[in-house]
Amino acid sequence: MPTFDYAPAPESRSIVDIQPSYGLFIGGEMVDPVDGTVFKTVNPATEEVLTEVVAAGPEDVDRAVAAARHAYDAVWAAMPGAQRAKFLYRIARLVQERSRELAVLESIDNGKPIRESRDVDLPLVAAHFFYYAGWADKLGHAGFGAAPQPLGVAGQVIPWNFPLLMLAWKIAPALACGNTVVLKPAETTPLTALAFADICRQADLPPGVVNIVTGAGETGQALVSHGGVDKVAFTGSTEVGRAIARAIAGSRKKLTLELGGKAANVIFDDAPIDQAVEGIVNGIFFNQGHVCCAGSRLLVQESIADDVLDRLKRRLGTLRLGDPLDKNTDIGAINSPQQLEKIRMLSDVGSEEGAERWSAPCELPDRGWWFPPTVFTGVTQAHRIAREEVFGPVLSVLTFRTPAEAIEKANNTPYGLSAGVWTDKGSRILWMAQRLRAGVVWANTFNRFDPTSPFGGYKESGYGREGGRHGLEAYLDV
Ligand code: NDP
Repeated sequence: MPTFDYAPAPESRSIVDIQPSYGLFIGGEMVDPVDGTVFKTVNPATEEVLTEVVAAGPEDVDRAVAAARHAYDAVWAAMPGAQRAKFLYRIARLVQERSRELAVLESIDNGKPIRESRDVDLPLVAAHFFYYAGWADKLGHAGFGAAPQPLGVAGQVIPWNFPLLMLAWKIAPALACGNTVVLKPAETTPLTALAFADICRQADLPPGVVNIVTGAGETGQALVSHGGVDKVAFTGSTEVGRAIARAIAGSRKKLTLELGGKAANVIFDDAPIDQAVEGIVNGIFFNQGHVCCAGSRLLVQESIADDVLDRLKRRLGTLRLGDPLDKNTDIGAINSPQQLEKIRMLSDVGSEEGAERWSAPCELPDRGWWFPPTVFTGVTQAHRIAREEVFGPVLSVLTFRTPAEAIEKANNTPYGLSAGVWTDKGSRILWMAQRLRAGVVWANTFNRFDPTSPFGGYKESGYGREGGRHGLEAYLDV
């Protein structure tokens, strides 16, 4: 337990100017919907209604796709790469200039701690635009032929766990390659995408190059199945990813899917234990565990399991849960009541199936949606909490004796997005990395992201890569 209490250190909300209602960003302007309805977006930490946004209807989506097509044909595709790069650099600089405002807005709308939105999400958003700005005039040197061509209009649907960062992952490479986009943010987190619309205007981006249509699943469905879309990029649940793959099967649309995960974080007995404990915490409790590549299955070598668990529980006792805008907060709010319900349900199933449940002793605020950091021990591979994506601050602990057993257990999942290995031996890291069926393998670290590094999955975690040179391929006709 902490030896002293922290005084509150709240970040000011005054930097954020939330309007009473928002329209759709189509053709470079905020416009009223034609057939859309409105819904409210809520602060998950307080349940306060923040503003009203539009659930775009099929006609609205149609207008957005037409605007993107016009911008593609009239300006963007034919613009020299060096010119496109200037716009992307401009956007990156504007994101940096407005990063405090965007970080506060993200924390208010999503519930994530300001420490994370300020120190992780926003720097990575800017880095993505800077990185892909650098590629825009060098596409002929990316390994996809001398003059690779863009695809056309990209329809992009993103989730609520990293709203602005997922937007950057989608929009930066698409624009760098000469495509125009229509993006739908998640229903519960539309505000930073709407702020990004303002950044596009500030950057003088030609109208229609980026269009933002807010809404729920039906809006996403209308977008991905629209006949004028050439490329679909989706991040979210495996279930919706499957539905999208079915919906566009047989069409000429190119598809990338970044779906769920159930990553193993493997700790060997020669690992630096204190660092590994920090890595476990960062792996599963970062962003309330709302992370597709979260290290939600801890595989710890049997001989050190008791020691690791003791230290882990002690460390979890020091995490501070509460006001996302407080700079001392480690664990913020759960994004929606639906997600909280899912976390509760799967945790209850964990107890019912016989695993031992432990939660960090912390008080939960009266209002808002919260779940304490929770660890299940005595978990077997048959348990649902070892197989299904909880997408919350819930860790399942399993043990192993030999490296071969660690590999077998780590790979025993329908997913394959990421994995972590903690050991003192470089040769063991390489041995493990060659055998883990995961798109990303972190060694002696976890949840580290870099725009230069490709990210994506095997099996039910989806297909295609985002980030790095590989991320260009998804937006080029190759
Ligand atoms: P979804 O996969 O439903 O949402 C992702 C995005 O797709 C949202 O913008 C959503 O809109 C949109 N969408 C929903 N249905 C369709 C459709 N038929 N066609 C096109 N777009 C659609 O995830 P949820 O938010 O419902 O979360 C459910 C579970 O998914 C979580 O509990 C978690 O396990 C997992 N998940 C995994 C993520 C990952 O990165 N691996 C990210 C998010 C969730 P809307 O916002 O209205 O739902």
